[in-house]
Parts: sequence; structure tokens; C-alpha cells
Amino acid sequence: MRIRVPRGTRDIVPDEMRDWYHLEEKLHEVARNYGYREIRTPIFEYTEVFSRSVGEDTDIVAREMYSFKDRGGRDIALRPEGTASIVRAYLEHRFDALPQPIKFYYYGPMFRHDNPQLGRYRQFFQFGVECFGSERPAADVEVICLARDFLDLIGLEKTVLLLNSVGCSDCRPLYQERLLAHLAPHREELCSHCRVRFESNPLRILDCKTKSCRDLFRDAPEITFNLCPGCRTHFETVQDYLIKLGVDFKVDPGLVRGLDYYTRTAFEFVSDDLGAQNSIGGGGRYDNLVEILGGEHTPAVGVAMGMDRILLSLEGRGREGRGQARVFVIADTDSRLLPSLKIVAEIRRAGIAAEVDFGGRSMKATMKYAGKKDFSHVIILGEREEKRGKVTLRNMNTGKQDEFTLAEAIALIREDRDSI
Ligand code: AMP
Repeated sequence: MRIRVPRGTRDIVPDEMRDWYHLEEKLHEVARNYGYREIRTPIFEYTEVFSRSVGEDTDIVAREMYSFKDRGGRDIALRPEGTASIVRAYLEHRFDALPQPIKFYYYGPMFRHDNPQLGRYRQFFQFGVECFGSERPAADVEVICLARDFLDLIGLEKTVLLLNSVGCSDCRPLYQERLLAHLAPHREELCSHCRVRFESNPLRILDCKTKSCRDLFRDAPEITFNLCPGCRTHFETVQDYLIKLGVDFKVDPGLVRGLDYYTRTAFEFVSDDLGAQNSIGGGGRYDNLVEILGGEHTPAVGVAMGMDRILLSLEGRGREGRGQARVFVIADTDSRLLPSLKIVAEIRRAGIAAEVDFGGRSMKATMKYAGKKDFSHVIILGEREEKRGKVTLRNMNTGKQDEFTLAEAIALIREDRDSI
């Protein structure tokens, strides 16, 4: 049997790359415009980085993480998300000793052993940003606006921003008690996962998608109305700034997100186009995480956007792409292959994408190949052209062809490119 790609992963084939490049270009642009600098961390870390930060009892760590012992017997995990690694690197490089706030962005593959379905993969790509060293609501708003700008720029203006506050270590325990008191009489009606969460991580019950659980907490107390004064003011200020900046949002008191480290602001961007996996990206504040991983108390806020889902929801929109010239250089016989290699090198030096025919086929077969491969121009070097120091340039869109010097041909290709 032929070997296939592992379940839940997929190849991104060349035809799809244009869309990926487009998104990647935009993510770098937006992040840099906001003053965030790129950081690249390894795709695996010591397991502890995630178990201590994301939380032992979260789905991500307890059930979805690819963790194993390496050959040296160390506990290693493929990163299921970006923030924990960035915090680890923040401390490791003593970025905490630099003037704050300090801002990073990252982009790369993440790994979760979840049940694959449309929009849910075992390897997926996230673009994320993290802002360290400010507890002010303006930092939360900046991160949200950055994500909003990115989505707007790539054509996902319709995604909806959901906003909540999950409180802090002062008010959350009190809220959890109230929630547990509400759910306790119905404990046996909870799904099997939520019965475990009831003990270990009650807030996560609010995140359950099972209908019977959702029905149970429909009239449960809402965290939004159980915040301490500090968290309430913070949440109100975030909302006030967003309103005044013209950023639409909906408060969703059930939004708790799947990671333990969030404090105060939690938010998510959801899309109608995606069915069950409707979350395009999300983030929030994590004021205790740096401390949990061994640093000083450092408030921070961040967001992670799922690139695979973004591409799915953009699919079929026919994004407008800038035209691009692609030139194919053909020699009529093998004896002119070397001059054709020199010609292709010169065209590339002029900043135009060009390929050369490797020879060994009839001119007719070669032209047929060029037609199928969507080249915008073909340059032919034959005996007559070589004698006159010229080349034949054919515009594959119009079918027009004529003889030119190579310099003239390059100028014409440029003109055509700019008018595509
Ligand atoms: P999270 O790290 O769980 O907050 O997720 C942030 C974003 O990453 C989500 O909104 C999704 O767009 C994306 N994401 C998370 N898990 C997956 C997955 N298994 N497959 C594809 N995208 C994912």
C-alpha cells in the first residue's frame, strides 16, 4: 500500500501557495506596522512549558498534545500553541530586563491530536502576537485592533468579534463557586468531560459544545456580572475604547476559551462561513503566565489567528492577484542550449521569473508544454535569431510574436507585466 500523509495533516501543494504567500505577506506587514517584531521558537519544547502554562487539565494538554520522550529520556512536546514558548523565550533572553512594553509576533505550525474535520487539523498554522509589560486596557485594544486590521485587510471584514472578561485570581474563584453551586444539582446530567471539569476546571464547562451541557448553563450566573471592581473597570474601558475606535464587538459571557492562563480580557473572532469550526482566531490577557513560568509578575496580552481556517473562509472569493510575467526560454537544438541558459539568467537578473527548456523534445511538443504551463511569454532562440543577435518573443496571451534584441524583449515583457 502506498504511504499517505498522517491523519489530520495535509500537503500544501504549489497551486495553493499563492494564497498562503499573500496571507504571509499581509501578516508581516500588519504586525510590523504595529511595532511587533518577529520571533521564531522551536516547534518542540520541554513538555513542562505547556503543562505548566496552558494547564494540566485543559483539553490541549490532557488529551491533544503530541508528547514523547526523546532519545535522552527527556519529556518533549510538539508545541500545541505559541504563547507558552514565547513566554519561555521572553525569560530566557532576558527581554524582561528591557524597557517594557515589548512586543513580538510569530508564525508557524502548531500540533494538536484532535479529531480531524474540516477546519480542524493535527498540524495547523497560527499567526500570533504577544505584548508584554502593560496591564492597561489600551494594550488589549491594540492587540484586538491588530487582529481586526489583519482580517479586514485580507477580506474577512464580516468576522464577528466576541468579547468577555474571565476575571482574575481574586474574582474568578468566587464566580467558580457560584457556577458550581448552580450546576451541582445537575452534575449527573453533564457530559463525561464536564463531569471531570466539574472537579478540575469548572470554568471550562462553559466552553462545552454538547447540547445537554449548554442547556444546563443557559441560566447559570455569568462571569461578566461577577467581576471584582478592578476587572470590571478594565473590561469597561476596553469596551469603551473599542466603541470609540469604531471596532464592533459582541459581549459573550460564555466565552472562556480553552487555555487556563487567561485573565481578564478574552476574545474570539468567529466566521459564519465555517460551520462547526467557526473560530478564526482568539486571544486575551494572561497576567500571571510569566510568573507561572518563573519570571517576575508581568502582565501581557496576545492573540493567535488560525491561518488554515482563514484560508478556508476565503476560499472561492477569487482574490484579486497582481499579474506576473513568467517567461519560458526555448532553444531549437541542443547546440543552442548554452546560449539559452545565458538568456534565462539575464532575464532573471532583470527581476522577471523565467525558466528554460531542458531540451530533448521537438519544438512543437515544447510549445505545447509552454501553453499548458501558463507562461506569459516565450522566448525562442533559433539559428536565424542567433545569427542576427536577436531572439523571438511571443506573447502567449495575444499570440503576437516578433524578433527583438534581448534588452528590447525584456523591456516589452516588463511593459506587459505592468499592464496585466
Ligand atoms: P487557540 O490557540 O485554541 O486559541 O486557537 C486559535 C486559533 O487557531 C483558532 O481560532 C483556530 O483558527 C486555530 N486553530 C486551533 N486549533 C486548530 C486546529 N486543530 N486546526 C486548525 N486550526 C486550529
